[in-house]
Amino acid sequence: MIGSKGRNKSTESSLVFAADLGGTHLRAATVDCEGRIHSRLKQPTPQAEKPDDIVHALVDAALECQRQSGAPDGAINALSVVVPGTVNTAEGVVIKAPNVPSLDGFRLAAALKSELAWPTYLENDANAAALGEMWRGAARGYRTIICVTLGTGVGGGIILDGKLWRGVDGSAAEVGHIGVDPFAGVPCTCGSRGCLEVYASATAIVRMTRESRPRYPHSLLHTSEDLSSVKIYEAGMKGDELALEVFRRMGVYLGIGLATLINVLNPEMIVIGGGLANGWELFHKHMQQQVIERAFPLPARRVKIVQAECGDDAGLLGAARLAFTA
Ligand SMILES: [Zn+2]
Repeated sequence: MIGSKGRNKSTESSLVFAADLGGTHLRAATVDCEGRIHSRLKQPTPQAEKPDDIVHALVDAALECQRQSGAPDGAINALSVVVPGTVNTAEGVVIKAPNVPSLDGFRLAAALKSELAWPTYLENDANAAALGEMWRGAARGYRTIICVTLGTGVGGGIILDGKLWRGVDGSAAEVGHIGVDPFAGVPCTCGSRGCLEVYASATAIVRMTRESRPRYPHSLLHTSEDLSSVKIYEAGMKGDELALEVFRRMGVYLGIGLATLINVLNPEMIVIGGGLANGWELFHKHMQQQVIERAFPLPARRVKIVQAECGDDAGLLGAARLAFTA
């Protein structure tokens, strides 16, 4: 397969086309076996009613990346796609992708392979991000890690002793749906209540700010119509009490969720990524405090909780890594 071929060839001659199909953007790149990106593009995800539109967008992106990279014919010898949802990696089927619903139940890997004739891999985006961080990011040199992605929602990837843990149905590592507030909990899109995602995502930061601001009439955010997690972070960095309180709560809930993961899995490292991880300065002390108070002392002392290093490339790099090691 690609893995053994990739390792034996020179680094210049073997490339993987990797694509990260997000709910908003399609990011794509050609990546070599050292994790270097040779060409890349980013475009809006097609708001497709038919899965064929997504297939064509991915094929066009692959051909454009191949052209940009200047790679000769035959240099790209695998395609690896990550999607925000549950996937059956063995069959190459998207089971459920709430942000790209036209793909639900679609045999994406087979459709792409029939167009491009490259071996094709499919993976969940948060799982791929964990692999990317372990290969080229914050978790280099570690083998048992959890990657938590704080974005519009909260995603997770678990790698145990070097191996991605997908669960028996491919639905493992739904870190965002650990219950952290079972009684008065806010309803979650998954059908449960009080999930970590409704307190520690970018969406949650905006909601909590809106809910709390009647109590903070002097806040910089008091009358702001177009609230965003970035604006709330910026207000927090200026000392705004409302923003500081919202990030404190977010950190507390995140720490409660992480303490559970630490007690269950005893990881060496937890990597925190996604756009909201940029608010680290405002939430990490509160998160750490909960971990100290709630997790067992031995695994709590051992685990390093750090910010991700690959940024938006984590999923692409993880996708490429999967193809090189398949
Ligand atoms: Zn949930």
